Amino acid sequence: MATTLDNDTTMRAVDAEKDLFSKFDPLIAEREALLATGVRDPYAIVMSEVKSPTLAVINGKDTILLGTYNYMGMTFDPDVVQAGKDALDNFGSGTTGSRVLNGTYQGHKECEEALKDFYGTKSAMVFSTGYQANLGMISTLAGKGDYIVLDADSHASIYDGCYLGNAEIVRFRHNSVEDLDKRLGRLPADAQKLVVLEGVYSMMGDVAPLPEMVAAVRKHPNCMILVDEAHGMGFFGPNGRGVYEEQGVEHEVDFVVGTFSKSVGTVGGFCVSNHPKFEVLRLVCRPYVFTASLPPSVVATAATSIRKLMHAGNKRAHLWENSKRLHKGLRDLGFTLGTESPQSAIIAVILTDQTQAVAMWQALLELGLYVNMARPPATPAGTFLLRCSLCAEHSGEQVGQILEMFGAAGRMTGAIPG
Ligand code: PMP
Repeated sequence: MATTLDNDTTMRAVDAEKDLFSKFDPLIAEREALLATGVRDPYAIVMSEVKSPTLAVINGKDTILLGTYNYMGMTFDPDVVQAGKDALDNFGSGTTGSRVLNGTYQGHKECEEALKDFYGTKSAMVFSTGYQANLGMISTLAGKGDYIVLDADSHASIYDGCYLGNAEIVRFRHNSVEDLDKRLGRLPADAQKLVVLEGVYSMMGDVAPLPEMVAAVRKHPNCMILVDEAHGMGFFGPNGRGVYEEQGVEHEVDFVVGTFSKSVGTVGGFCVSNHPKFEVLRLVCRPYVFTASLPPSVVATAATSIRKLMHAGNKRAHLWENSKRLHKGLRDLGFTLGTESPQSAIIAVILTDQTQAVAMWQALLELGLYVNMARPPATPAGTFLLRCSLCAEHSGEQVGQILEMFGAAGRMTGAIPG
């Protein structure tokens, strides 16, 4: 029987026994059962104040942020913030449409110039998010009759880019050079192929063996390589370009996709390339053409941040120190981690029991530490992650406090021996 849920609002709100929402019933039930145990809803956290890249107020309490992807801590950089304010004053709050129709603002050009200088490439194209950059690049490059070869653990935006286009999708085992080679070998030699890799895989924080993968790809004809450096930009390589720079394969990669929502400290996405025909994509790439461009304040903050990241060697060194110390400290406490050694600024604590993972997450929050909870389907079945992402602005003292809180919460919930 249908019930009207709410008489005070203007839209229809009917809960039929069976409708388009029925497929979510198991998820709703699982969530309700979990919340009935008394845990706080991990997806209902509100930060009422953000004091710095590493500190926010949650439930009235100062809380160390360890789940932000704000790797380089640029969100409160005074030059970055000022650039945003100036752009708001001079260009207004938004572009109200796509660059293809409404035109390009000076700030979009400056942002693309900053990217070209940062990456040393001839072309750069800014998208409204990193998600859309992958969606647009992958679906536009590889169409009917082409092949996309991707790591099985690829980010959702890479998979969605594959589904938006009409290419054949071929997955290889996570970070397996042998499987990549084998699968490429089975494809028709004359077909065009796009191989999609990531520098850092964001769930476990592990890094791809790019030189070996690139060598495997180059054994096969008609392959182009796209590397998503969402989690590598700013931190890896002498110029902060990403894992592909650090591992010395810059001249083998055709496209780098990235985001402004991590090290750059705002929102947006991009692709850089040296391909001579790259600019044609502005006319044919639907997630670029059919959506509004980034607001002037966002591109101004991004351009300023990108230029500052070119000279951030000290911050990179400090971030590595933080990552090594947290990794060792958590291992010494007895936690199981996503990688044997620290490979990136992401450190994943692996738990196998959902109730314990949520209890641990909540205990950390009550102690004053915010980390990300990740669960299936984002993680493999039966794997629950308390995912930590470090920031170059975390002080040594904060890393010490983080370890103390993990120790206390782990003992409290039985995740580590008492
Ligand atoms: N690629 C990867 C590997 C990511 O982890 C993410 C976001 N977490 C994206 C792309 C999408 O970036 P954005 O947040 O800018 O949409």
